[in-house]
Amino acid sequence: MTRPSRALIDIQALRRNYRLARELHGGRALAVLKANAYGHGAVACARALGSAADGFAVAFLDEAIQLRQAGIEGPILVLEGCFTQAELVEAHANNCWVAVHQEEQLRALEQAPSQIRGIHAWLKFDSGMRRAGFPLALANTAAQRLQSCEAVSRMTLMTHFARADERDSQATARQIAAFDTATAGISAERSLANSAGLLAWPAARRDWARPGILLYGADPLPGSPSALSPVMTLESEVFAVRELQAGDALGYGAHYVAAVPRRVGLVAIGYADGYPRTVPQGTPVMVGAHRTQIIGRVSMDMLTIDLTDVPSEGVGSKVELWGKNIPVNDVASAVGTIGYELLCHVQRVPRIYEDAIAAA
Ligand SMILES: *Cc1c(COP(=O)(O)O)cnc(C)c1O
Repeated sequence: MTRPSRALIDIQALRRNYRLARELHGGRALAVLKANAYGHGAVACARALGSAADGFAVAFLDEAIQLRQAGIEGPILVLEGCFTQAELVEAHANNCWVAVHQEEQLRALEQAPSQIRGIHAWLKFDSGMRRAGFPLALANTAAQRLQSCEAVSRMTLMTHFARADERDSQATARQIAAFDTATAGISAERSLANSAGLLAWPAARRDWARPGILLYGADPLPGSPSALSPVMTLESEVFAVRELQAGDALGYGAHYVAAVPRRVGLVAIGYADGYPRTVPQGTPVMVGAHRTQIIGRVSMDMLTIDLTDVPSEGVGSKVELWGKNIPVNDVASAVGTIGYELLCHVQRVPRIYEDAIAAA
């Protein structure tokens, strides 16, 4: 028997979230599949979206090549662009679109070997995040240089937001205004919005959106009612039950001491699967149809949940660590991180792609 732990991936939910993003944005949308589609399996997600997606985006060229080798044919943008001239040759051979965010990348295109033609370059500007991107003061010269490259046949302008998930911050409005002012004279398509930008900042909706996290149903805007459908359900089963007496200490470090008799379920999933070791006591989980909580420390391969108040649940009961009932963002905030990180860290468990989970 293999252990009953898995990440169920709801393909219909992924498609629904993509359609929602595209409709809201009103233009085309690149489905961001970097980091193995935020832990959901990039190849499977690309196949599931298929030609319904206007294109895909990944961080690095090796991620794009993995998709190409799996037979994915749509456009693929490499968001961090190429690191070397050799990578540019490979990006071209694999028919990838490339971001150009710094001088070295621009020079690599200017000096590209003559077999490299027809590149769609995404010229990235720093409009306030102070991370990657050309300064806006160089907008016109960078665009002119890029358009003069014989290797380049098409240019899109892009920028990225630092604080689009903060509705009351004016930082995003300032980034949009700065970008628009500096690029006003440049004739090209534009791409501004990540998920939070797309959801919260209508002024950021342009030719292309770049939604990532929202495709997976984790709302990047805390506290807002979400129209998104969670895609991943991380689940396992109770495989043993223990009775603790008052005073018994449970698990590594005797971290949890039962004040009263407790019934404890052992669940075959742990931090090696991506469930965070640092969750506090009381972090919610579902067992069967009931909400209960983690008690004791999460181990590498198992964790313990409180079954005291749910006597109907026991060995064989299904456990949801996050998914349709427990938002991944709730677990993330319990450990001081964001849903993105937890999803990206899901590993070892098999991913089961299910077209009909939504109907179940
Ligand atoms: C990761 C990334 C995105 C997607 O961001 P989400 O917040 O997941 O929507 C968009 N654009 C760029 C440049 C990125 O690196």
